[in-house]
Amino acid sequence: MLRTHRCDELNLAHTGHNVTLCGWVSKIRDKGGLIWVDLRDRYGLTQLVAEEGQTAQDVLETMRSLGREFVVRASGLVVERHNKNPNLRTGEIEIRVNSLEILNASALPPFLIEDETDGGEDLRMQFRYLDIRRNPVRSKLELRHRMAQEVRKYLDSQSFIEVETPVLIKTTPEGARDFVVPSRMHPGQFYALPQSPQTFKQLLMVGGLDRYFQIVKCFRDEDLRADRQPEFTQIDCEMSFVERSDILAMFEGLFRHLFLQVKGLDIGEIPVMTYADAMLLYGNDKPDLRWTAPLLTLKGGQAYGAVPGVGLGVEGVGFGVFEEAEAVIAVPVPGGASWTRKELDALTDWVKRPQMGMKGMVWVRCESADGAYRSSVDKFYGAAYLKDWMTRAGLGSGDLMLVLAGPEALTRKAAAELRLEIGQRLGLRSPDTYKALWVVDFPLLDWDDESGRWVAMHHPFTSPLPEDMGLMQSEPGKVRANAYDMVLNGTEIGGGSIRIHDKNLQARLFELLGFEADDAQAKFGFLLKAFEYGAPPHGGIAFGFDRLCALFGGQESIRDFIAFPKNNAGRDVMIDAPSGIDPVQRKELGLP
Ligand code: ASP
Repeated sequence: MLRTHRCDELNLAHTGHNVTLCGWVSKIRDKGGLIWVDLRDRYGLTQLVAEEGQTAQDVLETMRSLGREFVVRASGLVVERHNKNPNLRTGEIEIRVNSLEILNASALPPFLIEDETDGGEDLRMQFRYLDIRRNPVRSKLELRHRMAQEVRKYLDSQSFIEVETPVLIKTTPEGARDFVVPSRMHPGQFYALPQSPQTFKQLLMVGGLDRYFQIVKCFRDEDLRADRQPEFTQIDCEMSFVERSDILAMFEGLFRHLFLQVKGLDIGEIPVMTYADAMLLYGNDKPDLRWTAPLLTLKGGQAYGAVPGVGLGVEGVGFGVFEEAEAVIAVPVPGGASWTRKELDALTDWVKRPQMGMKGMVWVRCESADGAYRSSVDKFYGAAYLKDWMTRAGLGSGDLMLVLAGPEALTRKAAAELRLEIGQRLGLRSPDTYKALWVVDFPLLDWDDESGRWVAMHHPFTSPLPEDMGLMQSEPGKVRANAYDMVLNGTEIGGGSIRIHDKNLQARLFELLGFEADDAQAKFGFLLKAFEYGAPPHGGIAFGFDRLCALFGGQESIRDFIAFPKNNAGRDVMIDAPSGIDPVQRKELGLP
């Protein structure tokens, strides 16, 4: 080894020892007679010192010739510092350098290699190897490593085996566009990169492996939204001879293990909510349960099981906006009675933005001083109405309720977003609080207006709920899937399903999804074939590993949890990809 210690190791117990450290020059302070250098490696920082009259002249000269990010090897004596730095693990000591070797010089880095950098996103990505030297980036990669190890430990302890599935394959059915790779040996033919190992993991179950997992790259050529990566990593799993409850229990176990080992947190039991309840109570299928106050549907919501005629409702008093609306949905704001007119006006503008599409917003509150009910529509609705709504939303004195009205889907979505915005304003969305839940019983199919056909909401291998099997022909839109999502703090972090293992049912579903028999055969014939040879009942799940790491790290963006991410336009700006290929290669591949 070129060194005796790492840069985070030395303390007062080492005083008097001769040590050798290696690392990068982080900071240099030259006070004439005294020169200090902060030496950095992956583990920490140690201060080096040289002093006129004490340190040999050649060492002093080398010290003076250093620049930021030079790679050096320094030997010297550990001594107690005069000015101790309690924020640094090695802050009680410094090294009196007696030999200094420059292992490599460095060009001046284009941004500060410090926790707070002056480098913008583009520059950081272009020089990602320098960015990775910074603590905030390195520590995120360390967290990712820890998570991956703990995932392996848990799944191994549960008899899962890690199997690598191929990357050069053909189309997979996750509903995104494939990335394709031209074949040189078969001109005019292409491989597709896996959108997920879905079909392979099912084949592994037919192969009798019983429990499979893989921490695996997946590729989806989707229009890039902020913080989406064309290649991303999943924890991909599959199990045989299981029902839904077995899968939920197994992966609740994984999450309890991860939270306990990585964050020292006991997250308790993970609740299960139906899709219909999630939509009715929270307006979307990935509710943020860091606070539980649900929406109150005053009108509409029948598709999600709302029962009309409960309470006083909104009809019969001549308020046209509510009478004409398909849905009227209230968002509770506990403790919000004191919100000012100005704040309410600002929120009204917020819901009227084109991306929300609301026409306005009604407020109702119960004053904390006198318990009186007031609202922006009290010309129409008397105290009895207002009290009825507030009470049904679990609100009382000092609370506020905001009410949106309009078409069902639009209003429900807007109410869900307003709820999140309010949670944000009330400080209820702390990244250090974790609330997970399972959402189950999704619709199996979704009607796609554009193509005028049914599409699989999860993927076409998902089994219907056994009790809904009878609706497959008569009312396919009502069939619920034997599928589940895991939601953490309002983000969908994983999903899966019990699969179809019956060849005929699978063929029927392909038919419903409008696959021509030939097409289904060409794309997935291998799977249908495998199902002829004793496919066991099976099911599985996949978690988005990048997002999971970001959530564990308390961050919004997945970018820094990936060593070499692509930018929002899907480019790797460091290596400059994608890029053209030369004519010879093009010809070899049979490309025009
Ligand atoms: N293959 C699915 C996905 O990538 C997950 C699963 O059903 O296991 O979303």
